[in-house]
Amino acid sequence: MSDALARVEAFIAGTAQERLDDYVDFLRIPSISTLGEHKSDMIAAAEFVASRLAAWGLEHVEVSPTPGHPVVYADWLHAEGAPTVIVYCHYDVQPVDPLELWVRPPFEPRIEAGRIFARGAADDKGQLHLHLWAARAWLQADGRLPINVRYVFEGEEESGSINFDAWLTANRPRLDADVVVVSDTGFFEGNHPALTIGLRGLMYAQIDVTGPSLDLHSGTYGGNVQNPAIALARIIASLKTEDGLVTVPGFHDEVRVLTADERAEFARLPLDESDLVQRLGVPELFGDPAFLPLERRGARPTLDVNGLWGGFQGEGAKTIIPAHAHAKISCRLVPDMDPLRTFERVREAILAVPVPGVTVDVTVLSHGMWSLAPIDHPATQAAARCLEEVFGERPYYLREGGSIPAAASFATMLGVPVVLLGFTNPDDQAHAPNEQMVLANYEGGLRTIVRYWEALADLPR
Ligand SMILES: [Zn+2]
Repeated sequence: MSDALARVEAFIAGTAQERLDDYVDFLRIPSISTLGEHKSDMIAAAEFVASRLAAWGLEHVEVSPTPGHPVVYADWLHAEGAPTVIVYCHYDVQPVDPLELWVRPPFEPRIEAGRIFARGAADDKGQLHLHLWAARAWLQADGRLPINVRYVFEGEEESGSINFDAWLTANRPRLDADVVVVSDTGFFEGNHPALTIGLRGLMYAQIDVTGPSLDLHSGTYGGNVQNPAIALARIIASLKTEDGLVTVPGFHDEVRVLTADERAEFARLPLDESDLVQRLGVPELFGDPAFLPLERRGARPTLDVNGLWGGFQGEGAKTIIPAHAHAKISCRLVPDMDPLRTFERVREAILAVPVPGVTVDVTVLSHGMWSLAPIDHPATQAAARCLEEVFGERPYYLREGGSIPAAASFATMLGVPVVLLGFTNPDDQAHAPNEQMVLANYEGGLRTIVRYWEALADLPR
């Protein structure tokens, strides 16, 4: 350990209680981005972050407005010759309902059995907070940071990051960097340290099937008109085989084939399948038998129906042929699929289904790109080494099934590696009642980050 790092570690060891109190204060602010009534709380949370950054020696600290909630920006750029890192986290949180399932109110943090319980404890205010303290530890214990940093803390991640891409574009001149570090992910089942190297992309669409101009009497007209709900059922059934394989022509054409090394990495992950089946409450898992469940989650595309409606839904019976029927569908995408090309293929497959007597429309609602970081990149390898030094265990490399829009935006806009270095325990109950963070994960996360900044100073550029 370098002398500088030893000083930083000593600072961390000597400030544990002050840090925990500060973390609790941050969690008390109900920064729910999607609810208009919390607009002033969002400002309070942004100001909280900005006040720490400014007090602890970061520069150009700014609560930067967007048409929605602000982005908090700050930098420190005095490590001459060293790489520049962008750190991304978000200070907004999910809504808290159902409130009655919380043991204590979601914004009254509770500490019990080595865990802190509150909305945002893990996702993502806890992780943002440990980054604030990593900067403080270096600047106060050593008077400098080993690297140049630019902090970009978003306030709309939980409500779709609607204004984030425009903010990135407008602020492009102050976003030059060599690496982006996103701390909004976590460890693997059993709380084993992990680096997320892949995220899936998304294509979300709606199908509208329109028949007669009004709901019709099914006695008077049944037998003479196409039923939109049946037409929709035919369309949906045509999109997959009974084994669950997507039948859309060309859908898999650009799907990157897993290498033997990548498959070996998936096979190393200790997934307890029967435990998963039990937790999900399903009789068995269902998916392409040619792949392991974690491969299906991280490296294979999907097509799912997210919602389905049309016709009479009330109590009892109403004998109609519905005028229209609808479905929302989505595809999770993997390298090297293109979201809009996938939409065109799905749309063509839907329109090719022979359902005479109705009209069918397919509209794309949203889309986002997948991301995949190379395992052998020096920035990824350095993160893995720091995790192992702090947590005493070689980290797993994960490819997650979900999406973090900001990660793909950074990768696309800057063309630099995005390292997804997050520390939450897998049972953190993010987005659910009694969200919680294991305090040892938080403290270990902080110690990993301070080491990582020193390790990145030697990154070949
Ligand atoms: Zn998050």
